Amino acid sequence: MRAALALDIGGTKLAAGVVDDTGRVHSFVVAPRRAGGPERGLGRLCALGGGAVYGSGGAWSEIRAVGIGCGGPLDSSRGVLLSPPHLPGWRDVPVTELAQDAYDRPAVLENDATAAAAGEYRYGAGVGTNTMVYLTISTGVGGGVVIDGRLYRGTMGNGGELGHVTVDWHGRRCKGCGRLGCLEAYVSGTSIAERAREAGLDLATAEDVARAARAGEPGARAVWEETVEALACGLTSIVNLFEPELVVVGGGVSRSGEQLLGPVRESVRTSSMAPAAKGVDIVASAFGERVGVVGAAAIVYDREALKEAHG
Ligand SMILES: [Zn+2]
Repeated sequence: MRAALALDIGGTKLAAGVVDDTGRVHSFVVAPRRAGGPERGLGRLCALGGGAVYGSGGAWSEIRAVGIGCGGPLDSSRGVLLSPPHLPGWRDVPVTELAQDAYDRPAVLENDATAAAAGEYRYGAGVGTNTMVYLTISTGVGGGVVIDGRLYRGTMGNGGELGHVTVDWHGRRCKGCGRLGCLEAYVSGTSIAERAREAGLDLATAEDVARAARAGEPGARAVWEETVEALACGLTSIVNLFEPELVVVGGGVSRSGEQLLGPVRESVRTSSMAPAAKGVDIVASAFGERVGVVGAAAIVYDREALKEAHG
């Protein structure tokens, strides 16, 4: 077996898994990320990684490399987390160096949504496409893009921040970047819950809002419709920009399924410019909550393929 140890550093949880080069997940473990600095957090992550290898039933000798996915900003070529807003106190953390020392194997770092795009492209919903977009809608909103069969990274690995596409330049304040009217400020799970609260609804989470909207509660329906409109608006710009064959939507909010994707697909196809609009499909992630580890492993194989191609 050719396998990678995949680590995913999220704002609220840590995940680890062993994933082989066909995208098969041999083990998957999750733990809540407790508040605190990088030392304790990475210590727990390393232990979780050890648990994933043990749980896979395989041996350490089968693990060739370690892939790490984390929200930006980061420097993927140096393997350093710069100052991710979802990890307060983590500044300039040389995470790949620390992982290399801990596991005695090469390690690579990528923006988590970019990595997830690679995972969907290689092994999931995006197999067979040439140009595709991945959008994750969770506590924040992130994105990744594959253009002409290659993962797009940008200069330092922070390209494809699709959550910060503007949908209303006088709009709500974005918690992620501080500007007004970002897509994230409307469709993130945090924003959906916040807008429900502002509307006086007694609904704590985006999932609660989705459920109440399905049940026909008028206030929840209004919040949900605004979410659909904002997502369709942002995705229409994204589709016009890249003319992808496919948009894959992942993250907790995407688990509302067709309640979200159905009307968004219809609206994006109507609003995008031809012929981009005609060809595009919008589907849910093939991996659900495991997309982070599949993505982190995919970047290991992606970098290997790049090296083989360019020597
Ligand atoms: Zn923003």
